[in-house]
Formats: sequence, C-alpha cells, structure tokens
Amino acid sequence: MVSRVIPVDPFDLVIFGATGDLAQRKILPGLFRRHVAGQMPTDARVIGAARSDLSSAEFRAMARETIAAHVDPALQDAALLEDFLSRLDYVALDVQAGTGWEALRSLVRPDVVQAFYFSVAPVLFGDLAEGLQAQGIAGPGARIVVEKPFGRDLASAQALNATLAAHFEESQIYRIDHYLGKETVQNLMAVRFANILFEPLWNAQYIDHVQITVAETVGVGGRGAYYDRSGALRDMVQNHMMQLLCLIAMEPPWHFDPDAVRDEKLKVIRALQPVGRGDIVRGQYLAGGGGPGYLEDAGNPSSDTESYIALRVHVANWRWKGTPFYLRTGKRLRARTSEIAITFKEPPHSIFDDARGWRENVLVIRLQPNEGINLKVMIKEPGPGGMRLVQVPLDMSFATALGAEGADMPDAYERLIMDVIRGNQTLFMRGDEVEAAWAWTDPIIAGWQARGDRPQPYDAGSSGPEDALMLMHRDGRRWREIRE
Ligand code: NAD
Repeated sequence: MVSRVIPVDPFDLVIFGATGDLAQRKILPGLFRRHVAGQMPTDARVIGAARSDLSSAEFRAMARETIAAHVDPALQDAALLEDFLSRLDYVALDVQAGTGWEALRSLVRPDVVQAFYFSVAPVLFGDLAEGLQAQGIAGPGARIVVEKPFGRDLASAQALNATLAAHFEESQIYRIDHYLGKETVQNLMAVRFANILFEPLWNAQYIDHVQITVAETVGVGGRGAYYDRSGALRDMVQNHMMQLLCLIAMEPPWHFDPDAVRDEKLKVIRALQPVGRGDIVRGQYLAGGGGPGYLEDAGNPSSDTESYIALRVHVANWRWKGTPFYLRTGKRLRARTSEIAITFKEPPHSIFDDARGWRENVLVIRLQPNEGINLKVMIKEPGPGGMRLVQVPLDMSFATALGAEGADMPDAYERLIMDVIRGNQTLFMRGDEVEAAWAWTDPIIAGWQARGDRPQPYDAGSSGPEDALMLMHRDGRRWREIRE
C-alpha cells in the first residue's frame, strides 16, 4: 500500500506553553513525525512561546532531546532532524505580565496559515486570545487550538466560550479532544457509514447494549492536587467518553463535513436522559501493588473525588430506546485498555441444540493498545462430531492489516494538528457541544454534592468497585474483562 501523505499549506504554528509537558511529550515529537512523513512544507515554521527565558538555540536543544526520548529510533534520521530543528524558533513570553508580544509579532508571518496552540493552563486562554488580537498578530484566517479542560461546569464553559468568541469566530476555534484523533475512532465512522453491513442493525432492535471502557493502570500520581478538583466524570466522561458515545449513537450526517457531523453529535448529547442515582457507581483506589491510595496521591484525606466511575446511560430517541450504554473509566485498574464493545442481540430463534446465552455477536473497537476492530461471530467448531458452535474473532489489527503503513499511523495529536492547518474542524468539539455535555453533567455532580455521596474504595489492580459489577448484573449483563 502506498502512503498518501499530502503536504499541507505553508504555516506558522505558535505553541504557547512550548516548554510544558504536553508540548514536549506530544506536540513537538508529533510535528517531527509529520516532518519525517513529508507532510510539512519546506517553509513551515514552529515558534515556541513560554515563560522560560530561553534562546531559540536552547529551545532547539530542548526539542532535540524530547524527540530523542519520544520518537521511535527508526524515524530518527539525522538530516531530517536538523532540517526540522532549523524551522523552530522561540520567544520568551509571559501572557499575564504582557511581555514578549512584540518579539512574537516580528516572527509570525501574515501571509501563511497561522495556528496558535494554547498548551497552557485554561486560566490563560482569555489573555492569549485577547493578546493575539490586541497585538495585531492574528490575521483574519488565524486558528486557535485550545486544550482540555474546557470549563469545569456549564457556567465556566459558557464564560470561556464567550471570552474566546469575543476575539475569534467559532470557525477559528479548535477545541481539541485527542480521542477524536485516534485512528480507530475515525474508523468507527468509516465502519458505520461506508459499509451497508452494520447500519441496518445499528439500533435498539438489534443492539443489546454498548460498553465503553477507558481503563488506566496508573494512579493520579504527581497530578493529584489538580485531579482532585476534577475527578473521573469531569476528566474523562464529559469529554472523551461522551464523544465516543456520540459517534456510536449519532444519525448518519448528510456529509462528512464539520458542521454536519457536529450537528448530529449535538443531537445525541441533547437526547441523553438525566442519570439517576442508581445508574452511577463511583470509586477511589486503595493503596496496593506498591503504590499509595487515592487519598494519599491527592494529598486530601477527606477527598470525595472519584478516580473511577461507571454509568448506565440512555439515549432518548427512536433509534436507541431500550439499549443502554454502559460507560466506565478509572485509574489504577488491572490493565490499560480503551475499547468500545457493541453487543448485538441473539438470533430470535436457534435451530441448533446449543445452550443459549453466548450466541451474540460483539463488535469491539479497540482504541488502545493495538488499535483495531474485532468482530466476534459464531461458526461451526471444526472437525467431526456434529454441529457444535464456537465463537471466533474476525480480527483486524490495523498494524497487521495495513502492514508498515498501519504500524506507522500518526498519533492523535499530530493528525489533529495537521487538521488545524488544513482548516478542517470535523474532529474538534464545537462550543455548543461542550456546553450541552456540561448541561448533562452538572446535575449529576450537584446530586452528589447535595447528598454528600462518597466514592467506594476499590483495590488497586482490580476491575473497580463491586457495585459497578452489580450495575450490569442487575440488568442480566456483565462487563467485559479489563485486559490488554
Ligand atoms: P505544564 O505546566 O507542563 O506547562 C505549562 C506551560 O505554560 C509552560 O511552558 C509554561 O512556561 C507556560 N506558561 C505558564 N504560565 C505562563 C504565562 N503566564 N505566560 C506564558 N506561558 C506560560 O502544562 P501541560 O501539562 O503541558 O499542560 C498544558 C495544557 O494542556 C493545560 O491546559 C492542560 O490541562 C492541557 N493538557 C495537558 C495534557 C498533558 O498530558 N500534559 C493532557 C491533556 C491536556
């Protein structure tokens, strides 16, 4: 298979927060990989901007180190690296003190695509947006990329949207959710809308239930204080898992076009039923496996923030009436895995004399590890001895199916950054989507607070709290095993 990398238009990408963790671990290595893939045009430039007082040469040395640490050695071509580093510049800029803007203005070219990546704390987003306009740096076609978290409730998200809207049009604002940049997530849309096979079955008549799992083995570690103000519902469900749910549940958009797709996602969020108390289980991990417990990690012995959450969610529309969506995510669980599993109903009548209860087809979309798609189907157990059925996977690991090209798939961040340069907002959240998601989330949190609900403890390295199992058992279903 021949790789089809099409270079993007010449651009200046300014990374605010360029010395920070995200820029160093994801953005700079990702840009280098795009450079190796041949997607960066010769006059593309990347300008780092952060508070540290660095020269461009020092910033390049920093980039060299982070690329060595975070990019596959097989891609580390010396000549390409020098070429990439020669496109980097750095400006010391303090948004709050208002220093460094002139130096930035002298570097940003007005006649190329301008993208400004806000890889800084959200409290700085407003000042950055204002500064870019007030200093006359952002041209009419400029794009801004804003990182999560986008608000911590509906009111703060509305305020942030209003602040950004005071300086930029919605068509210039790219709210990043890196889950949407994952290859498999986009494949979910391809599987649904480019094949006739699934869509006729994609409804409550044929789908028994959907499970979405995002499990991590790590705890909150050094981010404890930050995480304790957030929790799993805000940190994972309101954004990433909600987006996955939307892509599964949405109606076919009329076209693969940013607003057509986002209109359909918005309808799903608005159709989400309020979640009752009995539809949620929250947990906090205990010490174990050589690691401290959540309360210690968070530095808050009386914390009632959840490091795990499981929910049963209903989408109130014709397509999904009666099909529950079970969502769970947590830290310090037994394996690191993210997947969506769509369990179809059993055939209405069996012509075989086998036991019931295991004849369902399951479509599993794996986000990590090993991005891929797997469809469990029933076949005859091979060999003599009559007709016995066995469930086997039709497995498509992208790395295997696509060979070298599949193994070398762009990371979510690099794909999304290239979408920003191309001006394609399809995989970015629109302001109204984010607000609708908070409008659904806020009453859940308000309920916990009003009742003083506390999360249940769970063992580190387990599958989460016992009650989460019950959440599905009560419905006569069970969670898929959490494993890599
Ligand atoms: P960080 O604390 O590691 O880096 C912050 C950066 O902001 C530094 O480069 C610092 O110099 C710069 N900065 C701070 N104050 C400034 C000021 N007044 N003016 C100019 N620059 C200033 O943070 P991070 O982990 O890289 O996160 C950046 C953003 O990305 C945050 O919004 C975070 O929520 C989000 N995010 C991070 C990750 C991650 O994996 N690190 C994941 C998702 C989202």
